[in-house]
Amino acid sequence: MKCDRCGKEVDSRNDASLLLSYITDLRYESRHLLPVVAQCLGSPSLAQYLPGQPRDTRPGGPHYNDQKFGSTIRETYKLLQQESR
Ligand SMILES: [Zn+2]
Repeated sequence: MKCDRCGKEVDSRNDASLLLSYITDLRYESRHLLPVVAQCLGSPSLAQYLPGQPRDTRPGGPHYNDQKFGSTIRETYKLLQQESR
């Protein structure tokens, strides 16, 4: 699937929409989760919960400031890495 932000192909292990669909049962357009160097910003509001990713400091963006949501994101991300292999 193509990223709705940059238009490039999204690897399923790095697809924010897949991650969200595991959590919410909703369908989203594909989007890079982790930033792709020099190509795509990714999804900072979700990526910020993953190890080594910076905090999302964009003004006005959707910010989830919830510890429980953060751990859900990390667990679901692990699942995504396993299932997509
Ligand atoms: Zn992208």
